[in-house]
Amino acid sequence: MAGEPRAAGEAARGAGEPSGIVRCPNCGARNRLRPNAEGIPRCARCQSVLPWITSATEASFDEETHASVPVVVDFWAPWCAPCRMVQPVLERLAGEYAGRLKVVEVNVDEQPRLAQRWQAMSIPMLVVLRDGEELDRIIGALPPAELERRLQPALDAGAQHAGSPT
Ligand SMILES: [Zn+2]
Repeated sequence: MAGEPRAAGEAARGAGEPSGIVRCPNCGARNRLRPNAEGIPRCARCQSVLPWITSATEASFDEETHASVPVVVDFWAPWCAPCRMVQPVLERLAGEYAGRLKVVEVNVDEQPRLAQRWQAMSIPMLVVLRDGEELDRIIGALPPAELERRLQPALDAGAQHAGSPT
């Protein structure tokens, strides 16, 4: 039960970095992200707030979705073309709203029981969680601007949190 994503999934993702690793937008250092229920991830080298985007297995799902900021769970699969339209938008938002948003990707092929638990029968499916509570559920690929508008309440909620001490 190593929980390591398969190489094929990585290639389909096209992200260039393995799951759980992000490159610091400020200094370029590669950082390994870990579940962090209390705070937000910062670069180990320069302390910049990092885009928070990771993937979850059945074993790590609860830990990964328990975060201090709103979480968008992205149910996807490598064969799903519309999923590949949603993912760059989420990656951009994770960068733009670093410290205010966490994106957790779930590959439904590799995690069928999570897909079943969340009734992800049609993908892409985004579930917006705040303190473990479902705020919204978006099924299908929305155009980028529409998706951002739909996620705005969660992004605003994250902004409120960012101002409070951790
Ligand atoms: Zn850095």
